Amino acid sequence: MFLTTKKDIKEIIDAAKKYQNIGIVGCASCASICLTGGSAQVGEMAQSLKKEGKNITFTISIDEPCDMRVLKEDMRFVEDNLANTDAVVVLSCGTGVQTISEFTKKKIITGTNSKFIAKTEHIGEYSPLCRGCDECRLNFTGGVCTITLCPKGLLNGPCEGHNGIKCEVDEEANCIFMNSYVNMKNFGEEENIARIFSPRDYSIKTFKKNI
Ligand code: SF4
Ligand code: SF4
Repeated sequence: MFLTTKKDIKEIIDAAKKYQNIGIVGCASCASICLTGGSAQVGEMAQSLKKEGKNITFTISIDEPCDMRVLKEDMRFVEDNLANTDAVVVLSCGTGVQTISEFTKKKIITGTNSKFIAKTEHIGEYSPLCRGCDECRLNFTGGVCTITLCPKGLLNGPCEGHNGIKCEVDEEANCIFMNSYVNMKNFGEEENIARIFSPRDYSIKTFKKNI
């Protein structure tokens, strides 16, 4: 699940100030689970924008707005309204926002901040576990992602601040390198404990359009 959080409504209103006729698209998948883009949040956004004097041309919740096939199918239901729309507020992760931008060719206003790929514990409680770094090291870290879970984003650690078990930044949490160490010991993978990973090669992050 891609974790998103709500943007401050003031930022959305500011981004929309030049536009009068506004459509709203929600995501019924990840953003719905995060309570940032489900049908309830789409309704709340419509109310907030109406209070600012905006005309809401349509609202729709799409199962996966990041999937162009689904998006094309579902947007047929609002195509007439879209023609009379100046800007579209999108309540999804950045992938959905950009897919909708490409499809509609309209001014797009995002209502969320995209954070991490996360585990859902309960609705409203999520654990970020992956940044999608494209060079996964989980095979050699005891299955824990240090660059996501260490507050300093360290690849090779621990830092000098840990007190043996606890993290110096978050005293409630274990230093993630300690968890990694324990897992490696349990799995009999001690040979990986002293492994030093090379610095990130950002040249491979330059994706081509289709990968
Ligand atoms: S190393 Fe971490 S951020 Fe990179 S792909 Fe693996 S889990 Fe995701
Ligand atoms: S104590 Fe461990 S988890 Fe905390 S910042 Fe340092 S290396 Fe990262």
